[in-house]
Amino acid sequence: MRYYDSLARLISHFQKLPGVGQKTAQRLAFFVLKLPVGEVESFAAALVDARSKLAHCSQCGNMTDQDPCHICRDGKRSKTHICVVQESRDVLALERVSDFKGLYHVLHGAISPLEGVGPDELNIKSLLERVSREKPEEVIIATNPNVQGEATAMYLAQILKPLGIQVTRIAHGLPVGGDLEYADEMTLSRALEGRKPL
Ligand SMILES: [Zn+2]
Repeated sequence: MRYYDSLARLISHFQKLPGVGQKTAQRLAFFVLKLPVGEVESFAAALVDARSKLAHCSQCGNMTDQDPCHICRDGKRSKTHICVVQESRDVLALERVSDFKGLYHVLHGAISPLEGVGPDELNIKSLLERVSREKPEEVIIATNPNVQGEATAMYLAQILKPLGIQVTRIAHGLPVGGDLEYADEMTLSRALEGRKPL
């Protein structure tokens, strides 16, 4: 089938989204064509607005529209515990399900030599600076339970423990190979409670 240029362009944009193949991209594009024009305009504006207003918190790396982010600014949160996660969406997942009242640090990925991602490509230098400066009691590593997440946890334990900080890893029970954000509430909140020293 040969599409009109504007339709082909729309499909190619959807296809750039993670997990969206050509068929899904086509379905999404045709769905958009059926929406009222006003709704499409509001969707397009929301994309531009979010992309232009949101940036990374200078302290923890979380996605935010104010720097520092609302979690770092919250005086009621305990500075003694820092929970390290791979992505900002993991902060959302943990905030939704757990009663964790410490702070976070977002790495923006995990160590993956095959994909050319080493410690220097991640938000690790600022974690080290932060830990040296703020001397938390415990750093909880909540990277994903897969090869990259485990490698990252091991690396962080190696560099943080010499600073005299207790380093713990969230408990398994999370599906191996899975993503933190897809874990159900009970699993995620138990994983955090049952963390073990590294
Ligand atoms: Zn922050």
